[in-house]
Amino acid sequence: MQLSQLGEFGLIDLIRKRFSDIPSGPMLGIGDDCAVIPCDGQRSLVITTDTMVEDIHFLRTAITPRLLGRKSLATNLSDVAAMGASPVATFLSVALPRDVSAAWAEAFVEGYHSLSAEFGVPLLGGDTTSSAGAVVVSVTAVGRANNDTIKYRSSARPGDRIFVTGTLGDSARGLLDIKAGKTDTEFAAIHHDPSPRVREGEWLGTRPEVHAMMDLSDGLASDLVHILAASGVAAEVELESLPTRTSVELAVTGGEDYELLLTVEEGAAERLNRAYGERFGVRLREIGRIADGTPAIRWKRQGEEIAPDWHGFRHF
Ligand code: ADP
Ligand code: MG
Repeated sequence: MQLSQLGEFGLIDLIRKRFSDIPSGPMLGIGDDCAVIPCDGQRSLVITTDTMVEDIHFLRTAITPRLLGRKSLATNLSDVAAMGASPVATFLSVALPRDVSAAWAEAFVEGYHSLSAEFGVPLLGGDTTSSAGAVVVSVTAVGRANNDTIKYRSSARPGDRIFVTGTLGDSARGLLDIKAGKTDTEFAAIHHDPSPRVREGEWLGTRPEVHAMMDLSDGLASDLVHILAASGVAAEVELESLPTRTSVELAVTGGEDYELLLTVEEGAAERLNRAYGERFGVRLREIGRIADGTPAIRWKRQGEEIAPDWHGFRHF
């Protein structure tokens, strides 16, 4: 069987099932943006790891080493934010081919440091090796949160309103620009230098009316289904309500937005959004609601259900 038949999530599922015989106790493992390890009665550590591979996640000729350093950290801080947690430390592993210059490596570290400094997150370790060809960067981030406010993918309830931060599809549009050789557009800059919603995630984490949360890395069409599957619910999404500066299709299928996707208790949604607006100067966008039913998205255009063949990014 080809790996493409198993698929990325088929492989993750195989790994998860193979390890189901080894008890993990109160720790939460595979399936959310971060693993959760309770420290005491009050708090937990959340841990995530993400890898970026040359020619799969980036082109060395298109992204500067400084921005690659920032982005490799940003994707991990985004997963910590998605749990409603605060980042406390990171670990950085790099495999570099011999044709990489010292100046390139220094600029990469400068970039990684600049985003670390923005959020005051120390680097506590890592690993450094050579590589036969590709630059590979693997980052592990650790965060901390109160046990009773950690946001899981599995907490969406029928009736919840669905919200997103920011706009969707900018990064995917940037990737199209980069592939067309236009590496200096506004969208290309967003693709190369995403802003993880660290402060927003921390703030939303403290709000009990926020039920489920995750970050958008593979595109709404894929990512929302993870919340639905984990929570055993369906969703209705109004295409007109999607916040996008590009196209609805890019907003739905485009990856790497690193915005937050959250579901909020029905009766508290307006109050939460007002408070969010006061705190961050911009509001969340409501894009639909959680409903009873099998875990799938019902896309609606002007109230009518449509059936597009949309999916997010796939590795295999
Ligand atoms: P995210 O996009 O939020 O980083 P992923 O889609 O990469 O999440 O992964 C989904 C879940 O599967 C996460 O909980 C992650 O820890 C887990 N996972 C992914 N790859 C592996 C692996 N090789 N072994 C164990 N768990 C994995
Ligand atoms: Mg994630």
